[in-house]
Amino acid sequence: MRPARATIDLDALRHNHRHARALGGGRALAVVKADAYGHGAVACARALEPEVDGFGVACIEEALELREAGIRAPVLLLEGVFDADELALVERHDLWTVVASPWQVDLLERHRAARPWTVWLKLDSGMHRLGLSPDEYLLAWRRLQALPWIDRLVAMTHFSRADELSHASTRDQIAVFDAALSQLPADTPASLSNSAGLMAWPTARRDWVRPGLMLYGSHMLDAPRAEADTLRAVMTLESKVIAVRELAAGEPIGYAGTFTTTRPTRVGVVAAGYADGYPQYATSGTPVIIDGRAGELIGRVSMDMLTVDLTDHPQAGLGSAVELWGPRLPVAEVAARSGNSPYRLLTGLKRVPRRYVGA
Ligand SMILES: *Cc1c(COP(=O)(O)O)cnc(C)c1O
Repeated sequence: MRPARATIDLDALRHNHRHARALGGGRALAVVKADAYGHGAVACARALEPEVDGFGVACIEEALELREAGIRAPVLLLEGVFDADELALVERHDLWTVVASPWQVDLLERHRAARPWTVWLKLDSGMHRLGLSPDEYLLAWRRLQALPWIDRLVAMTHFSRADELSHASTRDQIAVFDAALSQLPADTPASLSNSAGLMAWPTARRDWVRPGLMLYGSHMLDAPRAEADTLRAVMTLESKVIAVRELAAGEPIGYAGTFTTTRPTRVGVVAAGYADGYPQYATSGTPVIIDGRAGELIGRVSMDMLTVDLTDHPQAGLGSAVELWGPRLPVAEVAARSGNSPYRLLTGLKRVPRRYVGA
């Protein structure tokens, strides 16, 4: 059997979730969109359900996957519905939905619900992607509040740069949000923070936080924060050395000859490549862990294989374990070596079997 695999540590997931929830101080919506950032939405949701306040997903298909697996906790559609037909599914499967555009307000006004709904109304506080502008927000709020079947309205917004700790934009977004919130009933629940907002911007914690990336043990904060230090990596991507060769100095390795040996070099071929989700353009020198010790990628990553330098790892050879990211090697660090993000690498996991531990 091909040795490439991803091990998902559900204890680490629960640990990170408890940390996020404690830090937020209120309720936490565990974001499990995009198949729980590549970790498996159903397995992760089952592991978290006993202690979760709710789950966040991108679309109805992802919500239905959770419901069909028997998940009963609240599930919020973070982008709302895409058309009127989806309203019946929201109703039938008892989902929560975001309203982020005026056309979605129109849609709800034409709907007649048979049960009480929870709706999160999204303000565009400066990211300028989804959300109602500050001018539109209060009117949209009143229109939704006038619908008798809307039982609970949550005010929300989303940050564009919360991982940049010294950038003013998050502070500005919080101020824009608070100005809108001050026009709403005093007991209105508020939600601003994704993982970075939650860890780095204490004034943005409020009633609900929406941690995603941090649940999986990663972050992109651009300066050290104690809040990120206790996170534990949930996924370990690893494989094994399946061939070894000795090369003289001056020999190219792999496609396009992007790396040429500068000394007699022992090369290990590892069974993992970009078709598994490892970044194709990770540069030579990208860290790997070979039998528990720090090592380096050399040469271009292929579809099914990559090559590592074993010269300084005399004990390593055929069958040696190679960790490509995980507890000993942050996925964010690997991502940075190819101009990628941990979001991209984790959600890009493909082909490798996932094995769950700590269930
Ligand atoms: C994806 C998403 C999150 C989670 O973001 P992270 O940066 O992964 O913590 C939170 N809120 C919304 C609206 C999202 O779309």
